[in-house]
Amino acid sequence: MMLGGAEEIGANCTYLSIEGTGVFIDTGLHPRDRSVAAFPDVDLLEHRPTDVAFITHAHTDHLGALPYVMRRFPHLRAIMTPATRDLSHIMLPNGARLLRNDITSDVPREHLEFYDRTAIDQLRFAFEALPYAETLQFRGYSGRAPITASFHWAGHILGSAGVLLQCGRFSMLHTGDTMFDNQTVIPKASLPRHHVDVLIMEATNGATEQTPSRREERVRLARFINTITERNGSVLIPCFALGKMQEMVVMLSSMMQRGEIPHLPLHTGGMGTRISKVYDAYCYSDPMMRPGLEISDTPQESIIRDEIHRGPYLKTPSLVLASSGMLNTGTLSYNLAQLWMARPNFGIAFIGYQHPTTPGHALSVSPKKQPFDLAGRRVTRTCEVERFRFSAHVSRESLIELVTDVRPSTLVLMHGEPESCDSLALDLRERLPGMRICIPRKGVSYTLSAG
Ligand SMILES: [Zn+2]
Ligand SMILES: [Zn+2]
Repeated sequence: MMLGGAEEIGANCTYLSIEGTGVFIDTGLHPRDRSVAAFPDVDLLEHRPTDVAFITHAHTDHLGALPYVMRRFPHLRAIMTPATRDLSHIMLPNGARLLRNDITSDVPREHLEFYDRTAIDQLRFAFEALPYAETLQFRGYSGRAPITASFHWAGHILGSAGVLLQCGRFSMLHTGDTMFDNQTVIPKASLPRHHVDVLIMEATNGATEQTPSRREERVRLARFINTITERNGSVLIPCFALGKMQEMVVMLSSMMQRGEIPHLPLHTGGMGTRISKVYDAYCYSDPMMRPGLEISDTPQESIIRDEIHRGPYLKTPSLVLASSGMLNTGTLSYNLAQLWMARPNFGIAFIGYQHPTTPGHALSVSPKKQPFDLAGRRVTRTCEVERFRFSAHVSRESLIELVTDVRPSTLVLMHGEPESCDSLALDLRERLPGMRICIPRKGVSYTLSAG
């Protein structure tokens, strides 16, 4: 049963009852919703068993509701990779801050009880780390048979994993968020490719016929940076603090070294810098494109949150990386964008998906020098804006390849907008006619038996 993240990229939370043992895969918070619907709807479970939660990676839409779910089910074991556990020390307090700041009044107080600093600190000590490819055997309180679980490298961000579960003859693979092409820092996934009965797969890019190659996008980005900085302007790149920020720091530094762009001061800020330190701590032990390469070795100047109006990037051509990626109001990137919009020689480069309801989307499609709505305000921009696509999600072709290799009896599509899931399902139905395809709806139970 999906308690969130069905037919959308929301509060991702898959619930499975396997031979009497209750398993959650991910307990995410909705990335934008701040009402009670931001939490996975665990009330739908009624009296079903709840024993273990596997967290596939530390993005808020997969990890952020864990304090809430653990408050509801205090006996729950929370299991993640060692890097995800370390990243949770940064991501959970940050998620808690966002929740406290703009939660709506319909959220009962108890929902937030486990989000204060002490409660999060205590919870984190209970998180269990399971390294890649090691197996864990467990059986729930009313479990009838043991289940074996293992994590497999998902290629999305540091610590990301797909989960393989086996119980007797039944096997199931949950991809989490996954990527099958190398990024700059993070190498491609190595998920199991053998047959499983059930494949639960993300479908973020399910409707995108042709994803532009990273090389093409890199050339376009270099061209944009060159145009802006030749005019004495600075380039703002709004990006997620976890994943995108680290990829961008290393990519921009390599572009400077290869002479694709001039040597420019690089400004980064806030949480992204702390996350980069966790990347560095795992640069030898976890999969990396260049083992031993430390992100903090790239010279970076810190953005001072209270002094953005006086930042050196306003005078000297620079590159500025700031979260959030979709310009959510009140974030560093949102505040910096206000300064950029009034400067005709400056430029903003959007590098990832912009959800239609976000200020990032409004600005990225806005006409130049004409009024438009940005987070409820009528504004005009004179700066340049350009969109690029550096996805950390598997392409449609690679999704089809995975399904063709694994040949599951049942395929479950999640973590995608309805059109992504539908378009992928249609294509796969033609290629693999015997396979059952399920696009689950939130709160509906499905029986996924062995084939
Ligand atoms: Zn993710
Ligand atoms: Zn996600």
